[in-house]
Amino acid sequence: MSTHFAIIGNGAAGYRAAKAIRRADGDAQVSIFTEERYPFYLRRQLGEFLSGNLTLPEIIFQSRNAYRRERIDLFLMTRIASLDPPDHAVVFTSGQRVRYDRLLIASGTRAVPFEIPGLDLEGVTTFDTLARAQEVRGAVKDVRQAAVLGEGIIGLTLAESLAARGIRVTQLVRGERFWPQMLDEQTSLRVEGILEQRGVTLVRNTAVRAVIGAGGRAIGIETADGKTLPAELVACGCRRRPAVGFVEGSGIDVGRGIRVDEALRTSHPDVFAAGDVAEPAAFDEFGDEGAAFCWQRAWTQGALAAAGMLGTRAEPVFEAVRLRTVIFGQDLAVIGRGHLAPGGNTDAVELHGERDIYRRLVFEGGVLVGAIVFGTGESVHELNRLVAEKASRQEVEATLAVTTTDARTDLLPTTFARHCPICAAELVVHHGTRAGAVLACGACNTDLVVRWDGERGWLEIRRP
Ligand SMILES: Cc1cc2nc3c(=O)[nH]c(=O)nc-3n(C[C@H](O)[C@H](O)[C@H](O)COP(=O)(O)OP(=O)(O)OC[C@H]3O[C@@H](n4cnc5c(N)ncnc54)[C@H](O)[C@@H]3O)c2cc1C
Repeated sequence: MSTHFAIIGNGAAGYRAAKAIRRADGDAQVSIFTEERYPFYLRRQLGEFLSGNLTLPEIIFQSRNAYRRERIDLFLMTRIASLDPPDHAVVFTSGQRVRYDRLLIASGTRAVPFEIPGLDLEGVTTFDTLARAQEVRGAVKDVRQAAVLGEGIIGLTLAESLAARGIRVTQLVRGERFWPQMLDEQTSLRVEGILEQRGVTLVRNTAVRAVIGAGGRAIGIETADGKTLPAELVACGCRRRPAVGFVEGSGIDVGRGIRVDEALRTSHPDVFAAGDVAEPAAFDEFGDEGAAFCWQRAWTQGALAAAGMLGTRAEPVFEAVRLRTVIFGQDLAVIGRGHLAPGGNTDAVELHGERDIYRRLVFEGGVLVGAIVFGTGESVHELNRLVAEKASRQEVEATLAVTTTDARTDLLPTTFARHCPICAAELVVHHGTRAGAVLACGACNTDLVVRWDGERGWLEIRRP
């Protein structure tokens, strides 16, 4: 009889695991359960969808037919209510039980809602699923002013994509500067500079007290210091927590997320967890900041979890990249504890390069513990490896000297580096490459089409 691999969650981790299992075992039964209504889509590119750069068929990466062709059973709008590991069963909200041989929990995160009055008004929205993004896209057509609450990656995405639509955006920043728990001061300034250049008004040292409404609709927000800011749309980029509600009572060990070992196995031998919901022991290396949520890590862990579920040996990958994103065309990567301020045995080295490229390396006791790379995708993979290897300053300098020299020779007018829209691996497109040529991503094997508009190059996913 074939083995039944069940997966809760159809995001980066769950989808990647399903594909890897199918590729390795043609006879296996593979099922994915997701509470969402769409097949796999590019969650990290919801902003591009909102700004109008991506259409619905472009953001949906795999059609339902493609799942059928690959014999992956996809259960849309199917919420798992609880688990019964001793009986190897997942339980739907209807009470129906489905047995599995191996289970992967890849349920991502849930929003922690703000606790302020007015959130039930029309015009107040969150932004974390494609269904929600569709609603927002429909709702913004007549909006001229918007307020963005929350300054995490979702708040940042909202500010960027609403501004790209020509909407006047006000974003509240709790402290003196943007994202202090993730970025150093220099990088905060750069991110703030980009947002302000694009017309986003940042209101610093301010929290929100309430959303104000008239006739059931949002018309603005009231700040903690009593100011009123007008807004027809109030978009909430709430804090996130691992989505573990349905795991409670199952006996599986849960901390901040679901605790897993190096192979992503939970405290129950036939249950694995991957992506934003998982809490690998290696997170202790980062302390609380390790709980940052990241597409690249979810994608990498999907493949690792699949190997564990199949019983094959895979080299554990220490994924120290905590964030990889693009803000108005500028790459930003945060690796490990790249934001730490110098002091005690912590030392920070700042490297300023051409085209406003900025790299920051953080050493603790002479060992690399983190980095921030802004303005380029180059050297992110090397720095991830060097953090994992706890490299010395000498090793880091030697590696960077090589990669940055390479980068310089790559800086021909028609050579550019971009990351894969699916797995975020870094790809360099060389001078002389034909526009329209198709490249395979070296990491996830996705076919990518090279685009060039005479000034700027980018990569698009080739539709199957
Ligand atoms: C607007 C936005 C912008 C982002 N930008 C970036 C970025 O630039 N860079 C970056 O690194 N990351 C970014 N992220 C974060 C990134 O998308 C996540 O880190 C990544 O999607 C995590 O993948 P995952 O597979 O762990 O979980 P998810 O992609 O969150 O998928 C979880 C899945 O589990 C399902 N699920 C949850 N609970 C249940 C249940 N009880 N029953 C059934 N199904 C369930 C959900 O329906 C979903 O399909 C962004 C996120 C958002 C929302």
